Amino acid sequence: MKKNTIRDLKRRLVEGLQVLTGEGVLSGSGHLSARIPGTESFLINPRFAGVLAGPKDICTVDFAGRRIAGKGPIPSETPIHSVVYRSRSDVGSVLHCHARYSILLGLLDTGLVPFNREARIFADGLPIFPDSHGISSENLARRMADALASHYAVLLRGHGCVVVGPGIEGTSISAIQLERACQDQLLLMSFTTPKPLPDAGRGRVNARLENPYRAWPFLLYKHRIGSKARIRASIKALKEGEHY
Ligand SMILES: [Zn+2]
Repeated sequence: MKKNTIRDLKRRLVEGLQVLTGEGVLSGSGHLSARIPGTESFLINPRFAGVLAGPKDICTVDFAGRRIAGKGPIPSETPIHSVVYRSRSDVGSVLHCHARYSILLGLLDTGLVPFNREARIFADGLPIFPDSHGISSENLARRMADALASHYAVLLRGHGCVVVGPGIEGTSISAIQLERACQDQLLLMSFTTPKPLPDAGRGRVNARLENPYRAWPFLLYKHRIGSKARIRASIKALKEGEHY
């Protein structure tokens, strides 16, 4: 694996941690990881508030959950990441967090209703894992991964959620949209019963999450992560006439 690729992944991971914290998805706890392509290893922030981590703090962990580079310590719930990478070859990034509205919504028997555009990206199913324990063992992580199955997120009852996706930016945007959808559903429930959109089955557009050329640069700018010139230079907009 080229050094530049790792350096780039670490920078993007650090940016993801900052955006997710700015959006209220991450706090002092929670972790974001990225698969190192072509290897059986991934990068993850160490066991302190992700927003405080710089590229040099990011650890490398193998698929058995062992730290192989970086100072550490790695989070106790690292098995969430190693087990998901082993079982889902389509996943390039994993987030675990203890976000407020995801926890509240996970207590509802109805779960998330695909009632708006944010909720619709989870229309294929958002399972609820019933165990509220910290997922610090392989065994528990495997049960969580079974509940996640081929979906893009799982709510952990009374605990938080796990969100997966093709890459760091797409996973982060999914997690932000999930937290917002949970908050909006709870608000909606205070005055009516949420109903699925008639076209909820359209689900998600994965290409949009692989190149979120509008949402991600906006979030970098909103949270002042890098200069406006650098953020603009990174935009890979679709050509006129193209659309997702
Ligand atoms: Zn946790």
